[in-house]
Amino acid sequence: MPGLYARESRSISSMAHLRFFPQAVVGGSGAYLTADDGRRLLDFSASWGAASLGHSHPAIREAVDRALSDQAGASYLSTANEPCVLLAEKLLSLVPERARGRIWFGHSGSDANETVARMVVAATGRPRILAFEGAYHGGTVGSMGISGHPAQQGGRAEGLTLVPYPNSYAAGSPEAAKDAALARLQHLFATELPPGEVAAFFIEPIQSDGGMLLPPDGFFKAVEALCRKHGILIVSDEVKVGLGRSGRFNAFEQSGIEPDIIVFGKGLGGGLPISAVVGPEAVMNHAVAFSLQTVHGNPICAAAALAVLQTIERNRLAENAERTGGVLRESLDRLAARHRLIGDVRGRGLALGVELVEDRTSRKPASRQTALTVYRAFQLGLVLYYVGVRSNVLELTPPLTLTQAEAREGVAILDQALADVAAGRIDDAVLEDFAGW
Ligand code: PMP
Repeated sequence: MPGLYARESRSISSMAHLRFFPQAVVGGSGAYLTADDGRRLLDFSASWGAASLGHSHPAIREAVDRALSDQAGASYLSTANEPCVLLAEKLLSLVPERARGRIWFGHSGSDANETVARMVVAATGRPRILAFEGAYHGGTVGSMGISGHPAQQGGRAEGLTLVPYPNSYAAGSPEAAKDAALARLQHLFATELPPGEVAAFFIEPIQSDGGMLLPPDGFFKAVEALCRKHGILIVSDEVKVGLGRSGRFNAFEQSGIEPDIIVFGKGLGGGLPISAVVGPEAVMNHAVAFSLQTVHGNPICAAAALAVLQTIERNRLAENAERTGGVLRESLDRLAARHRLIGDVRGRGLALGVELVEDRTSRKPASRQTALTVYRAFQLGLVLYYVGVRSNVLELTPPLTLTQAEAREGVAILDQALADVAAGRIDDAVLEDFAGW
């Protein structure tokens, strides 16, 4: 019998770039996964951020076990079940006053953003939506429709306008990036996009899939002022960088803004499928008419999410993200001093990016070397992935429970992987037909 990886390739449709992880995973504990040959893999991706507490966390296992035995026979007819109500109340207590109205539950970041996109248009009567170039808000038709990542070019909605996310590295400085992005927004409002037609601005407080871009100081405050002036709702997509990952519970807190609507996903369920939208009652009341889904608000996933939130709070995991993220960041800065491939190290807390370039003057993206680094790191026992509109940014989003020893262990493997890639020691057959994301 062939191995699981071969059988998966023959039976399940999966993305071509997953070729860089050519092995099946059979288990996991904490920050480590176990491959089907018994190898331990340090998971610096936390399975794209879903495994917020790491793998097989006892709090999630207990909560799910309990919910399965208490609730599985009960009706899923509505969200009037204990785990859901407790989760809703908890989430409402964790957002600013402005957004503290009602919750809608979904299964993924995609369905949550799609629901918001339809809801804000219905609630405001305004047909247009603003989002950032490079933003990934999901893979369903409606969420692709408000996304700006190049991989989603085919799916943009008619009412969507994209504006540049400030890229401090590309622009040369945070100030230059901020000024250019704000000037573009103001120009748009003064010319082809009447702000009174815009229902909402979807923001990523750190743009993750677009390249782990950190907003320059003051940028989102200025965006907030413009939105308030024109009555545009601010939607903070916290799906990847929220829930403690940035070092604060909500990543938008880093910019000192108060969004109207907040979207949670990925790590909320700690691996189980659940997402949530929080916003003012008058807007949220438009959600249900559009998005009734059979098992949304099911008590099993809600119980897992509640356990995640309680564990983040009890174990001070946002503080851990800040502290351990700091150690990780310092180790990466030391790597940058030795590896010419590294053009920039950036991010906040445990949401970090390492941009690889062919040379530091031209800053030409080193996309092939990035994919090879991911592949080599996997061979050496480290799981991480790449993001960026040019597929040249290594993304580090490890579990919030990461220890400093694990942070150093991961960086040591990355060090070796980068050295092997730079020395051309890797068989690059894996790159056949590779065209980035
Ligand atoms: N928003 C952001 C910021 C994301 O990073 C992602 C996934 N990469 C999504 C939404 C979509 O979430 P999901 O894959 O759970 O549908």
